Amino acid sequence: MNSTNSGIHATSPVLVDRHHDDRRYPQGVAFMDGQYLPMSEAKISVLDWGFLHSDATYDTVHVWNGRFFRLEKHLDRFLRGTKRLRMEVPYCSDQIAAILANCVALSGLRAAYVEMICTRGSSPTFSRDPRQAQNRFVAFAVPYGAVASDEQLRRGLHVAISETVRIPPQSVDPQIKNYHWLDLVKGLFEAFDMGAETAVVLDTNGFVAEGPGFNIFLVKDGEIATPAFGVLPGITRQTVFDLSEELGLSAVARNIGREALGDADEVFITSTAGGIMPVTRIDDGLIADGTVGPVTRRLTDLYWAKHQDPAWSTAVVYR
Ligand code: PLP
Repeated sequence: MNSTNSGIHATSPVLVDRHHDDRRYPQGVAFMDGQYLPMSEAKISVLDWGFLHSDATYDTVHVWNGRFFRLEKHLDRFLRGTKRLRMEVPYCSDQIAAILANCVALSGLRAAYVEMICTRGSSPTFSRDPRQAQNRFVAFAVPYGAVASDEQLRRGLHVAISETVRIPPQSVDPQIKNYHWLDLVKGLFEAFDMGAETAVVLDTNGFVAEGPGFNIFLVKDGEIATPAFGVLPGITRQTVFDLSEELGLSAVARNIGREALGDADEVFITSTAGGIMPVTRIDDGLIADGTVGPVTRRLTDLYWAKHQDPAWSTAVVYR
């Protein structure tokens, strides 16, 4: 029979072995379905609602010099998020802490980016009812990575204010750490088009909100300020409030208009992935004289010093 009569032409399958070259994956160790695995083997079903609908919450904590930084705060935020999304994690906070520590210890990493995730999961019948999905918990530790490179940390980042507006909190609650990043990624592409290195998006009222993976602060006339609403309550953001208090600096959460960023004496962004990171250019304008400011430096130095302080950090026991 002539194969052209068959209607559909099946091309011979090309077998690409994506699974045996570990260099394609970051190093690290994951935990899923009750087991510890190399990162290259940690995979979820494409039928998981987390993948199909971004129906997931997560948290990221880092390990620096073999110590978790403010782990309890990340665990609390994660478990609060799962509750609000009506997900069930089969582990308590202490058990999750032990799983995360095991991922780090098994990976041997002294500086790690450690993530805990709960997805809606999938139902055995592919039901469209989220109540029938079996929620899935995954954790992993991979090498530490930052929003900014070393060079950007030295000279300060160039940030663009994007035209894309942040998804309203009434639709997706930004206080629950989530993977609804289409607005943030669109903003990031707009920023790249403008020659900038990352983006900040505004909220539906035109106030400054946050960026892809970070909160933003400005310093003006000695006052440190950050947006009050419509943002993730970042643990690094909270840490800036705590450090400011210790340094006797005034820090507030309030509405910030886009012009206020350009008029600021200093601007910085905050994230578990990088800590406190200076911004020296917004759109086409320099912030003050375009160099990293003294308040940003003081906060950054104290931030990293706290990583060795047992009141702020927890040692990982490496076997
Ligand atoms: N805002 C968003 C949207 C984020 O995704 C993140 C972290 O990933 C942050 C802010 C910063 O939060 P944290 O300081 O807890 O890392």
